[in-house]
Amino acid sequence: MITTAEIEALHRDSIVIDTHCDAIGAVIAGQRRLGERSELGQFDLPRALEGGLTAEFLAIFFGPKNPGCGTKQMLRYVDTFHQEVEAFSDMAISATTAVDIRRAKAEGKVALVLTMEGAEALEGDLASLRVCHRLGLRFLGITWNRRNEAADGVGEDRTGGGLSRFGVQLVEECNRLGIVLDLAHLAPAGVRDVLELSQAPVVVTHGNCHALWPQDRQVPWPHRRNLTDDQLVAIANNGGVVGVTAVPAFLGEDEKHGQLSAMLDHVDHMVKVMGEDHVGIGMDFDGVRDARVAGMEDASKLPNFTRGLAERGYPPKTIRKILGENFLRVFEHVCG
Ligand SMILES: [Zn+2]
Repeated sequence: MITTAEIEALHRDSIVIDTHCDAIGAVIAGQRRLGERSELGQFDLPRALEGGLTAEFLAIFFGPKNPGCGTKQMLRYVDTFHQEVEAFSDMAISATTAVDIRRAKAEGKVALVLTMEGAEALEGDLASLRVCHRLGLRFLGITWNRRNEAADGVGEDRTGGGLSRFGVQLVEECNRLGIVLDLAHLAPAGVRDVLELSQAPVVVTHGNCHALWPQDRQVPWPHRRNLTDDQLVAIANNGGVVGVTAVPAFLGEDEKHGQLSAMLDHVDHMVKVMGEDHVGIGMDFDGVRDARVAGMEDASKLPNFTRGLAERGYPPKTIRKILGENFLRVFEHVCG
């Protein structure tokens, strides 16, 4: 049995990558800064460093009620991202390659990667995508729950729509530029379309298992974005990775779903269905207010996840893969 000291050493020594976080929105709203430890939300740099996090992926998110068009909102997120990296350069670096992530680990800093959740912010224009790439964008979530110019999200479940013509162009251009495609929130037909079309491995930055929680009885409305076993197998066959999420509403509806063990159950299922090379973590920090499983209340609690994996008998080599090496493999393959 691995000892507590060995588990702590394993966690500190590992590359730990979390692939989805909405903290930039809180900074734009004036609620907090990334470099200042806060009681609000789940992610800031002090708590990330305390939790042994190597890389966090920070999302641009287009809100229809927010002021400004997609481009204006996108620029505000990009500017805030770079302002925060600059202001807190003692704790963070901006990362666009796997080398940057490894450098952050060596320097004891957090690598911040710019991502986008929903192509609404591109307003149907590949020029915006290319500009975003030059500004550091490396992961693109094709949709949030809504329909956009590229595809239908899972909330638009009436028509069964997949990729639009623009969506096909978007996939091809992301492949060409070296942007990782993220299928989180994408409706099933779109997932199928991207897996058929993409020449590069794809990911789901934050999602869980439909087999354990189909979300049909979810309140206030079904949010069916947990992945079926067929989808998990298809993503594994594509060489991709799925990040397990720590939000109770996506883990189950029984009394255990608010516990870390429920999250670990989803890890177990994914490893069983996909194999150990295709599972990662996408905590959805700052994504769903304060809805967190017990033991994963914020980024400082990440060692609890490693302890949970070790207690379930995963060997250190597998734990390192789930903590970050699997996502790093895709990142390096696609982005360099
Ligand atoms: Zn999301």
